[in-house]
Amino acid sequence: MPTAGHSAYRGRFAPSPTGPLHLGSLLAALASWLEARHAGGRWLLRIEDIDPPREQAGAADAILHCLQRHGLHWDDSVLWQSQRSAAYDSALAALQAGGHLFACACSRRELGPMGDCRRGCRQRGALTPEKPASPYALRVSVPATFSAHWQDTWQGTQDWPLGATLRDFVVRRKDGLYAYQLAVVVDDAAQGITDVVRGADLLDSTPRQRLLQQLLGYASPRYAHIPVLTDSSGQKLSKQNLAPPLEATAPARNLRAALAALGQASPPAHASSVEALLAFALAHWEPAAVPAQPVVSGAATP
Ligand SMILES: [Zn+2]
Repeated sequence: MPTAGHSAYRGRFAPSPTGPLHLGSLLAALASWLEARHAGGRWLLRIEDIDPPREQAGAADAILHCLQRHGLHWDDSVLWQSQRSAAYDSALAALQAGGHLFACACSRRELGPMGDCRRGCRQRGALTPEKPASPYALRVSVPATFSAHWQDTWQGTQDWPLGATLRDFVVRRKDGLYAYQLAVVVDDAAQGITDVVRGADLLDSTPRQRLLQQLLGYASPRYAHIPVLTDSSGQKLSKQNLAPPLEATAPARNLRAALAALGQASPPAHASSVEALLAFALAHWEPAAVPAQPVVSGAATP
C-alpha cells in the first residue's frame, strides 16, 4: 500500500473530540484518506479541541484509536488545536492590523436569529481607544464586495455572492475561545493543506474560510465536499441525534458501508481484513462515482 507520498498533495481529517466517531465521520475520513493516498500525497490529522465546554473526556483518544482500527494511519504528528493559541493570536493581530475586526459586546438576546450583530457594533468600529468594558466577541467585517467562487470536486461550481448578505462573523468568542472558522483557516495554512475533503454540511463555512484566507494572505486549498449521511427520516447522522459509535461495530463492516455510501465498487468477499479492504478501495477509487446528494445510511449498508 502506498504511504507517505512524493506528490505535493496534502489532505487532512480534522475531527472535534465532542464524542466518538460514527459512520458519517468515517465517510469523511475515508474519502479524504483515499483522495490523499490516490494522489500519492500526505494525509494529516488534526484534533479540533478548541471548545472545551463541548468536549467529552476521552473522546480524542477514542478517535485516534478508532482511526487506527480502521487502518486509516496518518502522516506526521497529530496537530492539537488546544496548543495553537499563539498562532491564532497572531492571526487575530494581523486581521486587526488590517482593520478587519471589530468588537461586538451584544448579549445573546440582542443578536439576530442567525447570531448576527444588529446593533451597529461595526459602525462604532475599532477596538481602540476605548474597548468595551463588558466581555466582547471579535467579528470580521465582511467587505460588501466579497464573493466566494470555487470549483468543488463533488458539489460542482460554487458561486456565493455574499458581500451584501454574509453576516459579520465571530473569530474570537465572547468567552475568549477561538472560533472554528479562524482556527481551521490558520491550521490549514500551517499544515500546508492543498485539498480539503469534508462533509457537505460544512459547505456554507467555506465562503467564510475563503474570506479569512484572503484577508490573511493565505492560498486557498481546493475543496471537495462529500454527501452527508442521513437516517431514513432525512436527518443528518450526528453525535447529536445519537448515531451509533463506530467502536461498537466491526471495522471491516464499517468500511464496506462507507465505501457503498461513497458509490464505490463493493470489495470481494475474500477481502475480509481492514488492510485488504483499503487496498481494494484504493486500487478501485473512483471519485466520479461519489454522489453529490445526501445518502441514506441504512440504504448504504449492504
Ligand atoms: Zn454587536
